[in-house]
Amino acid sequence: MTDWNKIDDAVRVKPGAKVKIADLDTVRADLFADKKDAEKLAAEHALAINALQDRLFAERKRALLVVLQGIDTSGKDGTVRGVFNATGPLGVTVTPFGRPTEEELAHDYLWRVHAVTPKKGFIGIFNRSHYEDVLVGRVRKLAPEDAIEARYEQINAFEKHLSENGVTILKFMLHVSKEEQKKRLQERLDQPEKRWKWNAGDLEDRKLWDDYQAAYEIMLRRTSTTHAPWRVVPADKKWRRNAVIASIVRGTLEGLDPQYPAFEWKPSDFIIE
Ligand code: AMP
Ligand code: MG
Repeated sequence: MTDWNKIDDAVRVKPGAKVKIADLDTVRADLFADKKDAEKLAAEHALAINALQDRLFAERKRALLVVLQGIDTSGKDGTVRGVFNATGPLGVTVTPFGRPTEEELAHDYLWRVHAVTPKKGFIGIFNRSHYEDVLVGRVRKLAPEDAIEARYEQINAFEKHLSENGVTILKFMLHVSKEEQKKRLQERLDQPEKRWKWNAGDLEDRKLWDDYQAAYEIMLRRTSTTHAPWRVVPADKKWRRNAVIASIVRGTLEGLDPQYPAFEWKPSDFIIE
């Protein structure tokens, strides 16, 4: 399957759909059958994304916000590396969201998010996002229940505001199985070059697996909107994850069709002595 619209259709959560997370496949062998082909395609997409990003930057009228959300080891960092590896650093920003600082906690939860949304001309990538406030926030009861409940609509309104102000939003939930997470956590212990990623706290979150899955399901049901739908990306295979996301990012940018600015002068008007 290489037509990006078909891939997008296969992973997009339709607004209002009563998705069940248990029904969402983390493999999706139907999307890309062959690893080599998928890697080749993703590499081609990465080059095309770079060319499109150059136009977006030159045009300076619109922005693309890519939200990467997923549990530990779901491949958020790997996606940045795998999909935007041909894109120069000029017009791309990557923002990780960790535990809020004291200063951030003194504001409303969207304050720190709005401050780092991409400027016109930029692709902004969120590694985790405001969705943590309805995920870890919900699971660990970091705010009163009614405050958490209110956030879904607040987030929808926030994203609508952004989308009406020139920011196209692509939200990807990287969906891995419990077995795959186990394998990837074990690699962090076994492989010296991955050991720096080890965080014993991840085991605490793993114990809350079902609670997190439930929180993700509610998130998908309540915040997949027409202006910013979720895409559930099968993430057990890194190469398939990259091919899916690269296809959708490229297709979206092509749809935006950014243009180099027009000029009132011609190159021949000038002579460089
Ligand atoms: P990592 O992405 O693995 O480096 O870890 C970042 C950590 O920050 C994760 O455990 C997140 O759950 C946590 N985090 C991110 N955003 C929030 C938030 N708004 N409230 C509480 N914890 C958060
Ligand atoms: Mg972590």
